[in-house]
Amino acid sequence: MTPICLVGIGKIAVDQHVPAIAGSDDWDLAATVSRAGTVDGVQSYTDFDQMLAERPDIPVISLCLPPVPRYDYAAKAIAAGRHVMLEKPPGATLAEVDALAVMAKAAGVTLYTTWHSRMAKGVAPAKAWLADKEITSAHINWKEDVRRWHPNQEWVFAPGGMGVFDPGSNAISIITEILPMPFHLRAADLHFPENRDTPIAAQLKWTNNVSGDFDWLQQGPQSWDITVETTSGTLHLHDGGDRLIIDGTEIAAGNNREYPALYDHMAELVKNGSSEVDVSPMTHVADALTLGKRITVDAFHF
Ligand code: NAP
Repeated sequence: MTPICLVGIGKIAVDQHVPAIAGSDDWDLAATVSRAGTVDGVQSYTDFDQMLAERPDIPVISLCLPPVPRYDYAAKAIAAGRHVMLEKPPGATLAEVDALAVMAKAAGVTLYTTWHSRMAKGVAPAKAWLADKEITSAHINWKEDVRRWHPNQEWVFAPGGMGVFDPGSNAISIITEILPMPFHLRAADLHFPENRDTPIAAQLKWTNNVSGDFDWLQQGPQSWDITVETTSGTLHLHDGGDRLIIDGTEIAAGNNREYPALYDHMAELVKNGSSEVDVSPMTHVADALTLGKRITVDAFHF
């Protein structure tokens, strides 16, 4: 098993990364770096430089920090000759992810920009079914309650936190994967709480009749749905991509294995000496923040 270090022991590290690594035959969680978080039975550091200096035996670093602090950690890890796995979205800016890709290539290490929702059970069969279809429209309906899923995570509303596009980039990572044609943004309405720096809701319109409705104040049932209309039938992805229904017939449904699949893929990339760097979901978010009309809405407090 290959030793791996997890950095940023917060919500997603505890919920997903630690169990995925524990359940894998490829990886051994050998150390953590976090100012406050630890994992039982695993050597913990609060200082990343110290971990890099003291543990040259750990060749792979998985960064579970929020996007803004992530670049500095990734750059140091690559400079120290380590392979790097990035949580989504892969950075705070597109240029910094490009810079990391150049650095990783020069250093001969793997860089993997993970998009966990692409590993949801219905996504690969949806992509396969859509490959030869004529798409007439596609719509994202991504509505959840930020207080429930990101309790007191102030960074999501700070510059670089991306607001509703933090979960919204999951939906965009799916449509950029499954739709067989290119599309680009035409218009966006972005709803910024008067006391915050990132949007809490957004409506996006792309070319080719692709659209999205994102809301972070959804009460009651939560929606993580994508509908694609084609000249040969209608495809629905529900539950964040886990459930696929085509013309009323359930094609895929089941357990969430997104994070184990990400770690399986990282093991393959490292083994093959290759990288996977895809910023396309983030490009659409950046386009929305560039082109979008800003609408000020009521203040938001957790
Ligand atoms: P989080 O719990 O708020 O943050 C993760 C950890 O990062 C924190 O516990 C903190 O650990 C460290 N950290 C935070 N700010 C830092 C800073 N400025 N400098 C250094 N370390 C810092 O966030 P999360 O929900 O786990 O999300 C982390 C990433 O995972 C995000 O990119 C998010 O989009 C992605 N993600 C989250 C979810 C989810 O459901 N939450 C799902 C999928 C993906 P210490 O204070 O101990 O250092």
